Amino acid sequence: MTGDDAPISFDDDEEERMERLLDDTEYDTELGMEMAKDAQRVTAGELNEAEFYRKYHERILEEFGEDDRELDELLEGLEADTLDEAAEDGTLSDRLTDLADGEDLSRREVMKKGGAAALALGMITSAGGGGASAAEEGGGDGTRYGMTINLNNCDGCLACVVACQEEHGTSRGANWMYVFTYEDDDQDDENFLVRPCQHCTDSPCTKVCPVGARHTREQDGLVLTDYEICIGCRYCEVSCPYGVNYFQWGEPDTPDSEIDDAHQYDERDRWVGARPPKGAMGKCTFCVDRQDGQMGEDKIGTTACEEACAMDAIHFGDLNDPESAPNQHLEQYRSSQENDTSTFPDRKDHTVSTFKLMEERGTNPNIHYVGNEPSQHARQVEGPVTYEDVGLVDERKEVLDNGAMANESGGESA
Ligand code: SF4
Ligand code: SF4
Ligand code: SF4
Repeated sequence: MTGDDAPISFDDDEEERMERLLDDTEYDTELGMEMAKDAQRVTAGELNEAEFYRKYHERILEEFGEDDRELDELLEGLEADTLDEAAEDGTLSDRLTDLADGEDLSRREVMKKGGAAALALGMITSAGGGGASAAEEGGGDGTRYGMTINLNNCDGCLACVVACQEEHGTSRGANWMYVFTYEDDDQDDENFLVRPCQHCTDSPCTKVCPVGARHTREQDGLVLTDYEICIGCRYCEVSCPYGVNYFQWGEPDTPDSEIDDAHQYDERDRWVGARPPKGAMGKCTFCVDRQDGQMGEDKIGTTACEEACAMDAIHFGDLNDPESAPNQHLEQYRSSQENDTSTFPDRKDHTVSTFKLMEERGTNPNIHYVGNEPSQHARQVEGPVTYEDVGLVDERKEVLDNGAMANESGGESA
């Protein structure tokens, strides 16, 4: 980890990866790279959202003919009535520009705590220990879906990865749920990191999408991609610090005919569920069709990975509800095991704890982890069960072995 006040930085490997991914598209690589880095600076509190909007607005219009980025702070500056009116008469963009230029939008407080770049496992880094429960941290009205994943319980069986692939029909190599097995300096045993999309409350991926395809669903905080308007620019992919996006290059392995409409269209009638079509971006949806009741009332508040895990490692639910499964599990863990070195004698105090991945990036992930946090020295190794063993392909590991980061494209190759 770098010093506490170090600004967010991107090393040569990361820049090279971004460039490689963006070069594969027909859109402006330089614009994508600059925006991806600045979007992460916005979430880290180093850059004002209004400045971010203004800086790229003209270039986005030039490249894409529209600018529909989801910029919450900026949009909050417009009254709801004004927003509707502006959207109707086509002046939203002008009004936002005025707002961004105005003096009335205060600079966001700099909250960045560190520029940790522990990328030993690709996109995985060490993170600060968690403090308050999800409910205490977030509070808030309505539903905010999230997870507590207890890594101490995980045995690396990959059942969650298989269940996710089967339920969503994702293509070869696009493992929306991904389990890393790694070794670390401080620990004798192998460790696991179970990593779906973090459904960040302050997500860089939504800030860069020029057409508004990548968005946060208001009713429950799910971060989704509207496949019908995604143009495949990959800007979201390079802006995500967690490496959870998979671009669908070719025709998907699972044809449309095998996916019921009900599993594709959500309550708002937007196509956000199941695997993406050719040319669109995919990632974990927190099983949006389950949450909308399309798989039956009893599946609401559950996910395929959680259901498949026989080790009780994954707990999904509403983080705004203190009684929900993720909050309850977290509380139980904290009261019974926190810093219990008799149970985990080889672990240092700070590792017998809870954490959020790359919390210092300011993304406010909606996944809490219990157990060891990977250090900067973590090394990915072959797991007890390989992806091949369960009929899947792990292209990510090959990428890592070649010295690149985890955020490599999945799905079919062009
Ligand atoms: S983890 Fe998910 S929500 Fe967060 S930035 Fe990446 S893709 Fe977006
Ligand atoms: S969701 Fe689609 S259009 Fe939006 S940034 Fe990602 S790839 Fe580009
Ligand atoms: S199913 Fe559970 S135990 Fe198996 S790899 Fe996934 S989280 Fe770990």
